[in-house]
Amino acid sequence: MLQQDCLFCKIIRKELPASILYEDEDVLAFRDIAPQAPLHFLVIPKKHLSGPAALTAEDEILAGKLLRVGGALAVREGFPHFRAVFNNGAEAGQTVFHLHLHIIGGRSLAWPPG
Ligand code: 5GP
Ligand code: ZN
Repeated sequence: MLQQDCLFCKIIRKELPASILYEDEDVLAFRDIAPQAPLHFLVIPKKHLSGPAALTAEDEILAGKLLRVGGALAVREGFPHFRAVFNNGAEAGQTVFHLHLHIIGGRSLAWPPG
């Protein structure tokens, strides 16, 4: 299930360091290496999926868990106001092709996004 050369699979396997906020058998949450706001962390499934468009019906509970964990951690970290973002595809800004939920907060955020 884990992909050999995937950056986030390497973080899951602890082959690369990360500032981990939460981990269980399904998901891992860790701080973004290049934070775009005072709060910026990622929640990823331990199952390798390339992005949200790769989700299938069997992943529905997992996808919901990413949101539940992300929201709960944002509140735990003291940031009840936050944005939750999935990028899918390079034109949408995706650079790491392992599904990840961005949780961003701690400053006012413009809408629509750039
Ligand atoms: P994307 O642009 O694909 O939606 O988001 C990928 C995110 O992963 C970016 O915000 C980027 O800063 C973050 N990132 C890339 N490499 C690493 C890494 O090695 N460690 C951590 N913690 N974050 C990373
Ligand atoms: Zn992966």
